[in-house]
Amino acid sequence: MGLLEGKKALIFGVANDKSIAWAVAEAYRREGAEVALAYAGEAVAKRVIPLAESIGVSLTIPCDVRSDEDLAALFDQVGKAWGGLDILVHSVAFANKDELKGSFLNTTREGFAMALDISAYSLIAMCKYAEPLLAGRNGSIIAMTYLGAQKVFPNYNVMGVAKAALEASVRYLAEAMGPDGTRVNAISAGPLRTLASAGVGGFNQIAGHVAGKAPLRRNISQEEVANAALYLGSDLAAGVTGEVHFVDSGYNIIGL
Ligand code: NAD
Repeated sequence: MGLLEGKKALIFGVANDKSIAWAVAEAYRREGAEVALAYAGEAVAKRVIPLAESIGVSLTIPCDVRSDEDLAALFDQVGKAWGGLDILVHSVAFANKDELKGSFLNTTREGFAMALDISAYSLIAMCKYAEPLLAGRNGSIIAMTYLGAQKVFPNYNVMGVAKAALEASVRYLAEAMGPDGTRVNAISAGPLRTLASAGVGGFNQIAGHVAGKAPLRRNISQEEVANAALYLGSDLAAGVTGEVHFVDSGYNIIGL
């Protein structure tokens, strides 16, 4: 029997087959979960819909996480179809390319608001809509973060601030949702080649450095992140909440 047999999982953030969220969707289907995908909109639909069909996804719904209207409609549809929810995966981030290069001092008011809205506030909004569906089911919420929340990386800039807000939100949400039996955790992934990371200036340099210095002397894969999301989504992690769990070949423990 699969680790997620009988569970229903809603996953945000598949844009293509390199997306971390896609590896999570595949792992969750493999382990017996029913899966719904929420995708950003028309721009990614032509890639997301065939992928969803290829693994027997139950629902595929467009949702711009900046829109309360979209979120309300999405959770309404999920509630009607499933009557409840066991796992919610937040694998969404965005900042304007201009904000992800050069000096952090050039961060704009608009760029800051947009990055924090899409990459951090969206988790809080999702949790609010999902709460009644998750309550009393040992629910699990998982967000994707990066070490740039805690340490300074060149060019990561406003996204580091957004990830710091996301990680703090994970702790506050864990406290707020704990009484309902819902757990909230984050996975801090090492650098992976995806659409999102392509927007970060000097990404290749960061990935090369990690491969040379991390205890495992290599970069990680989307599948390794997905397997951690499998653990956190399953009842194996029933006692774990409010955590930031690193899947980064151990890079975060290294001082020099
Ligand atoms: P990705 O580009 O495949 O995923 C990002 C997703 O965010 C896309 O599906 C995109 O459509 C979605 N998105 C952006 N704006 C949106 C909006 N307004 N409404 C709805 N969806 C929106 O890249 P990824 O690397 O798989 O990123 C997934 C998560 O993992 C992000 O939170 C990212 O910060 C995090 N992460 C990535 C890395 C890495 O190196 N790739 C490392 C650590 C953490």
